[in-house]
Amino acid sequence: MKMKIPKSHPRYHSLVIREKLAEGFRKGLVHETGLIAHGRGEAFDYLIGERTTEIAELAEKTAAALLLIAKHPVISVNGNTASLAGRECVELAERIPAKIEVNLFHRTEERVRRIIEELESFGAQDVLGDRPDARIEGLDHPRGLCCKEGIYSADVVLVPLEDGDRCEALVKMGKRVIAIDLNPLSRTSQRASITIVDNVVRAIPNISKWVDELRDKDMEELRDMVDSWDNKKSLQKILEYISKRINPP
Ligand code: ATP
Ligand code: MG
Repeated sequence: MKMKIPKSHPRYHSLVIREKLAEGFRKGLVHETGLIAHGRGEAFDYLIGERTTEIAELAEKTAAALLLIAKHPVISVNGNTASLAGRECVELAERIPAKIEVNLFHRTEERVRRIIEELESFGAQDVLGDRPDARIEGLDHPRGLCCKEGIYSADVVLVPLEDGDRCEALVKMGKRVIAIDLNPLSRTSQRASITIVDNVVRAIPNISKWVDELRDKDMEELRDMVDSWDNKKSLQKILEYISKRINPP
């Protein structure tokens, strides 16, 4: 049964996001453990104030620059991402332009198919992932499966809500990995080239906004922006931001 959430509820936005995810679960897009992963994300979202911090904004801008200079950028989409920001991912992919590959931790052919159909309902074309023909090196079956013309050959991969192992494996393959993860302490956050500590529902449209703003800059300027990015420092700033909120000076 779908719940009608009253707009006056103080947790309205958070409840709408939960309802979207529950709907994704009922439609067979989201794995049951995805519901649990979302809860961990929510807790960190609460700590950062459920808004895009200045630190995340800069990460989103730098991510947009990296996606624009990439030769072969790919957006990796899982069930949670498709449910919460599927339409926004399709819009971002069109803008860059980038390929989309459905890549699941708990892979079933049925779920891959449903997620591809969901993305196609938002206008996506040629979504990869249903016929994997390559492996992410160092990851055992089946979460290591990927597509040669997608993630396998990508130079830049955007991974919203990625698992730490796979993030690390992609970096080891020489790719630059942009992660969206509300937990600045996760292995994904620590391993990625650019970590965006923000909710995927805010981060994806924000990256699109920056892609539009940066698209006319010269490549040199975008490259400088990416080269000067210090991910460790950015994560440190987020942790300081959270600790100040918990323990105001
Ligand atoms: P890792 O494997 O990187 O150490 P983990 O095992 O704690 O992390 P996973 O379950 O692999 O986490 O991945 C889920 C991650 O996604 C969590 O770190 C969680 O904070 C984050 N997350 C969940 N929902 C969202 C969301 N809506 N937006 C952004 N991040 C989210
Ligand atoms: Mg994990």
